Amino acid sequence: MPLYEYSCRGCGRRFEVLQRIGADANDIVCPACGRGEVAKQHSTFASAVAGSSASGPMPCGAPNASACGSGGFS
Ligand SMILES: [Zn+2]
Repeated sequence: MPLYEYSCRGCGRRFEVLQRIGADANDIVCPACGRGEVAKQHSTFASAVAGSSASGPMPCGAPNASACGSGGFS
């Protein structure tokens, strides 16, 4: 199942929910404040990918790891 990221419009809390493809956000409530006013964020596969296989040498040989690859998060 894909992992969707939501943000609460009430308190601003961000959380992730595993949902089937095609499921809507009508039954999603904020785990922090319990409100149902949540907004779906762009889906992220980062956490799923990170758990699978991060072994092996980095393709980039730079001493500063942040200089290569996944520096796009801000
Ligand atoms: Zn909330």
